[in-house]
Amino acid sequence: MNWFNIATIKTAISMTIALLVCFSVEIAWANSQAPKDTPSSNMLIHIEKSTADTVEKWEVTYTLTTPAKTLAFVRNPDTSRTTRWLAQDSDIEIVFDDAKHQEVVRSKSGKSFSAVSFALTPTYKHLGKDYAPFSPFSDGGNAFHSGRLFACANTCTEEDNKWQLTLNIPSDEHIVLNGKVTKNSVSWTDNNNGRVVYVGKQEPIITNDVVALIDPGLPESIKVSLEEDIPNMMAFFSHSLNPLKGEKPMLLASYANIDDHSRQGGTLPNQIFMHWNRQDLNEQADNSSFVNQTLWFFAHEVAHLYQPGNTEGVSENKEQSWLHEGNADYFAAIAMNFLYEDANSYVESRITRAFESCTEGLAQTTLAQAYKNGHFNLYYSCGMIMHRAIDSVVQQKTLGEESLFTVWKRLQKAVNSGMPPGTATFLTLLEPYNAPELIKAINNATSDDALKAIQGIETLYQFPE
Ligand SMILES: [Zn+2]
Repeated sequence: MNWFNIATIKTAISMTIALLVCFSVEIAWANSQAPKDTPSSNMLIHIEKSTADTVEKWEVTYTLTTPAKTLAFVRNPDTSRTTRWLAQDSDIEIVFDDAKHQEVVRSKSGKSFSAVSFALTPTYKHLGKDYAPFSPFSDGGNAFHSGRLFACANTCTEEDNKWQLTLNIPSDEHIVLNGKVTKNSVSWTDNNNGRVVYVGKQEPIITNDVVALIDPGLPESIKVSLEEDIPNMMAFFSHSLNPLKGEKPMLLASYANIDDHSRQGGTLPNQIFMHWNRQDLNEQADNSSFVNQTLWFFAHEVAHLYQPGNTEGVSENKEQSWLHEGNADYFAAIAMNFLYEDANSYVESRITRAFESCTEGLAQTTLAQAYKNGHFNLYYSCGMIMHRAIDSVVQQKTLGEESLFTVWKRLQKAVNSGMPPGTATFLTLLEPYNAPELIKAINNATSDDALKAIQGIETLYQFPE
């Protein structure tokens, strides 16, 4: 189970509407509890990229150790495999099983099979509830999400959480997997939500902080921002929270330059990726509100990377998404204020707008149910107001000795030492501050009573600076 966010953000300054899709680091708690020595699923997933007459062709082949009559997928966000995956054998088809509510591979004749291949459509596809399968770069490179390919014979269960993958590519291209550049072919074991893998001709930029693949077609100002602002933001969060452990994170920024208006950002363990599916970036790049929105978008994604247990999850379930999304948005606000003096009024207007959009939204849905009712944006807006209040109360109660960062560092520690992630643990960490009025307002904001919830947010919004 994965979660996702779609927020329609109306900026008070420009009143333009941008579609922001942000995926984050949460992995279903059930998954993170799966035993580490889970056996691999009984299949090999082979991905073949080839180019014929400059047309890229991507093919995936599933080879099963035991023949099966059907294949199911771990991730079932929509029905688009039925049209975007083309079976290479006329007896094989992908159909949407209404009863199971998922796509299924089967043979038309009802025979068992031990190998099936599909030609994939390597263009950007917005998946409402998942990471995009492909993020094309304007120079012909592409990045794919491995988790999209995870499949199981017959049905997938929670025990199915380990896949063997191989990838072959043309000799004049290379692969960037886990920050490492490889030629020709590579194989790896994958699990949980999978990862993003780059294939193309672009050499990654390797700095002290990141291994980056930045689309050469992006406007100069965005490229510079990615190369300079993201390391600055990482340094800021590294200092305010804890430095990242392990290998350098990968940053992928791709630009499809096509007639559309969406962008998508996301994080997976040790990866940040951003994709712009639009064609007006050159015109937008000089617009200050666009620049601020983009910086905010970067800061939000970078913040996720530093949230506790970034491979284990922050919130326990979708209902609690205010915790990681609201936190990432408020941390973005803090980083923006700290790093860019000019951005202060933009940040203020985002906070005001978040308060307004939160209270408007809570008149229509409870926070817990917002993800079911098409109001995922409330986890950002209400969550940001909630975190802002916590920050101001903690600072006030400790005379500035501690802040929201202190609380999140403790959450990091608690989760790493085995406490369950989620709001219960988080709220426990607020108890020592002796701020019952804060806890009460948070409980009200998350309650099922609309009036109470709105009052809770109003109280939180008014907490002292
Ligand atoms: Zn996010």
